[in-house]
Amino acid sequence: MKAKQCFSCGTHDGLQHFDSRSFTIDFKQMSREIDDISGYECRVCGEIEFDDASAERYSEASDQLLIDCRQLMAAEMKRIRRKLHLTQKDAVKLLSGGGHNAFSRYERGELAPPQPLFTLMLLLDRHPHLMAEVHALSEGSDLKQLLAACHPEHETALTR
Ligand SMILES: [Zn+2]
Repeated sequence: MKAKQCFSCGTHDGLQHFDSRSFTIDFKQMSREIDDISGYECRVCGEIEFDDASAERYSEASDQLLIDCRQLMAAEMKRIRRKLHLTQKDAVKLLSGGGHNAFSRYERGELAPPQPLFTLMLLLDRHPHLMAEVHALSEGSDLKQLLAACHPEHETALTR
């Protein structure tokens, strides 16, 4: 069996060669299996070094997963925003905050949406009727009532 010194912990013959092993690549909540990887693994510290061809396949697969994931999120952002009858401008104002072109960048896949925003979009996809509440809450009526309750002496400021 092929073995060599571990470059990480220095153990002599620490790195032992392996063949046709599967590895899982993770990105966000998605993962992909990549088979038939060969390389060396240190029996002492667990350091792994892929053979050149395997390292290249692994790196290509990682890049591809990232691209696929970003495109999928971009398409979802657009589909859900349209389903909610929002312009990109409205979506920024009501849902994401940030720069005026934030949504356009998410939908072009230029930028991955922050996870909490993506979660919110998926939530609204499942419960689109909640948009009525998003509109109401954005107008600040709850906050106004709360403020009036906390500071009744300024109650007049509320009427309009
Ligand atoms: Zn080692």
